[in-house]
Order: sequence, then structure tokens, then C-alpha cells
Amino acid sequence: MAKRNNISAEIKDILGKLTIEDLPIAGKRVFIRADFNVPLDDNMVITDDSRIRSTLPTINYAIDEGAKVIIASHLGRPKGKAEPRFSLAPVVKRLHRLLNKEVLFAPDCVGPQAENLVSRMKEGDVLLLENLRFHPEEEKNDEAFSRSLAKLADYYVNDAFGAAHRAHASTVGIAKLLPAAAGFLMKKEIEYLKGAVENPVRPFVAILGGAKVSGKIGVLENLADKVDKVIVGGGMAYTFIKAMGYEIGDSLVEPEMMDLAKNIMDKLRKSNVKFYLPVDSVIAQSLEQGAETKIVTTQEIPKGWRALDIGPASVRLFSEALQNAKTIIWNGPMGVFEIDAFSRGTFAVARVVADAYALTIVGGGDTDYAVHRAGVSDAITFISTGGGASLQLLEGKDLPGISALTDRK
Ligand code: AMP
Repeated sequence: MAKRNNISAEIKDILGKLTIEDLPIAGKRVFIRADFNVPLDDNMVITDDSRIRSTLPTINYAIDEGAKVIIASHLGRPKGKAEPRFSLAPVVKRLHRLLNKEVLFAPDCVGPQAENLVSRMKEGDVLLLENLRFHPEEEKNDEAFSRSLAKLADYYVNDAFGAAHRAHASTVGIAKLLPAAAGFLMKKEIEYLKGAVENPVRPFVAILGGAKVSGKIGVLENLADKVDKVIVGGGMAYTFIKAMGYEIGDSLVEPEMMDLAKNIMDKLRKSNVKFYLPVDSVIAQSLEQGAETKIVTTQEIPKGWRALDIGPASVRLFSEALQNAKTIIWNGPMGVFEIDAFSRGTFAVARVVADAYALTIVGGGDTDYAVHRAGVSDAITFISTGGGASLQLLEGKDLPGISALTDRK
């Protein structure tokens, strides 16, 4: 199906910052901050390399331009200590295979050994630095540590969208010390997530799900006066349903969020934004495999039972609400999709979103995983690589890693 894949042409420099194409990097040392925070199994084998793949356009561009390419990333939470299980060594091998060229590895991201390796690099060489978070100074955005990183390069490029909501030495500190630009992935993330919200083709529909209202409240508040429709599913829906006066049995509820939920529903009604909640649910008494399940209307969730997925009538309702959408943003699953018995609603919505003749944007790790498991990821216009960062952008907040880049004059 034809998709509106190129919104960048419609959006005039939404980023407002230098990009890698603005930098004269030929023959120069370029420090690329990537997000190689990949999942590893017990044998230190990478189980999903999509984060590495998504930065390849930036790395390949720098190689083709004849830069000396120095790449840095974090991996996991080593809490400021060098721990072998958080080493980036497995990424060296994968990067070598993906780039089809040798990748050098510096066993520490700063210091004489890294400096020495950099001094011997030739044009087009690639060097990966060991995990930035082996140094506690990284997360503290320490100035001296930022200077040690900056010493390695002439230019700085940030392509780590997934870490852009953190003000660390490698995302903010170093950007103040070198000419600093966005990589291609960073630019694309901003164009889609910010561009779609600021300049949507209408009707614009937001689908929100996941466990808690508190996790998505900022997004709802920011999108409330920008969207035409809001669809809420997942655990968070039941706080809204309870706030409307219905009994929800033992379903997930955040009592302290009920007033806020009511206010948001009022606000949406006043601004004529259509608001959709599940009209039926798949319920069970426990999450255990094989537990008895039933489908009931929202009005009829019995005591002792909890709603763990949206039901088939809700899928039809949401699907109809999405029929005329031209822009769809989706963040958060419709149910406990990790368990087969409660996964149908999420997968059905994934298929509806994928089939929509609309610009479709998916954000958040769970939703990304759900569209992959539903087998429709190729039909989604854009899947964000950043969980926290994409939520923060959708909340209308600035990301420190973007703000720190050099302004485009
Ligand atoms: P979040 O990180 O807030 O997007 O939440 C994602 C999690 O919400 C997933 O792990 C789901 O299992 C969970 N979830 C979705 N729907 C429900 C529900 N009805 N009850 C409890 N948990 C849910």
C-alpha cells in the first residue's frame, strides 16, 4: 500500500540544528555518539541489532566522506564501573559484519590508549570506544570527562536519539566543546515525532496504551489540543472508565489519577476531540497461563476479575475511528500482549494501523516489539528507536541532547 513516506520535504527545518551534512568532515576526526544499547543473551550474543542498523546511514556517510570515524555508546547500567558483561566488544564484531570493514576497539573511551589509537587512524577508519558508562563522570555530565572525550575529535555528531533525553557528558557536555551536529537517525526521529505533531495531516489520531495513566499523562496533555481523536486502551483505560463511574473489578487503577483523567476527558470534549475507550474487555482472575478468560462489556466487569486486553467490539470501534485518519501516532499496547491470551487486541490494532492510508508513527519499546510480533513493522511509516526520548518529545518537551547541538544560522 502506498505510504506517505517523505514528510521531511513538507517540514521546513524543524530541527534548527546543524546536521552531519553541514560539517566539512573529510580527513577529520568525527566523534559519533550512537545508541548501541542492544539486548544481549547470556553468552553475550546480540539478540536484536536494529539499534546498530539504524545508525549505519550516519556511519557509512562519515566513512564515504573520508572522515576518521570514532563511535561511542553506552550499554546497560554498569553504574560507573568497568564490568565485562556490559562491554561493547560484541558490538565490534557485529559492526564489522554490517559495515564489511575492520572496526578498531579502544578498551577505554578516554585516556592515552584511546588517544593513541585515534592518532594512528587513517581516513575512512572506524574505531569503537568502550562503554561510556564505565566512567561515573559520563552520567554526571562532568566537564573534565567531556573535555577528555572532545580531545579525541574535531567534530561531534549525535545519532543516539534513545539517549537524547539524558544530559550526559557524551550527549551534552561534549556538544558544547566541538561543532556539534545531528546524525541522520536523530534528524529523522525529530522530523517524524515533532513534525507530525506540529504539522499533522488531518485527521490526526493518537492511540495510547500501556500500564499506567501516570506514564502517558504528559503526552495526553500535550496532544489534547493538537489531535482530532484520542484512543485509549491498555491498563490505563480503566482509570478513565472508573473515573466515569463504572465498576472495573480488579483491573489496574490509579486512584490518584482519577481527577486528572476526568479533567482531560472534559478538556477533550470541550475542544471537540473525539475520545474512545474500550467498550469491552478480555478478563481473567489471574495472569497465569491457562487461566479462564471471558469477554465482557465494560459495564460488566465482575468483582475479582481484571481486564487484561481490549475485546473484539473495541477492536472494531477503534478500527472504525481510524478509518479516515491521515496521521496516526501509537504508543503503548492495548493489553498484556506478552501473554498470548491477552495479545489479540494489540495485534489487531497493529494490523489496522499498518493498513491505514496514513502516516503512521509507532513509539515505545513495547509497541515496537508488538508491531514486529504482529509481522507488520514494514508497513509502519516510522518506528521510533527511543522509548523515553520519544515520550518526552510527544510531551512537547525539549531534549537536552538536541538543544546542545550547534544552531543552524
Ligand atoms: P507502558 O510501559 O506503560 O507502555 O506499559 C506496558 C505494559 O503495560 C506492558 O508490559 C503490558 O503488559 C502492560 N499492560 C497493558 N495492558 C494492561 C492491562 N490491561 N492490565 C495490566 N497491564 C497492562
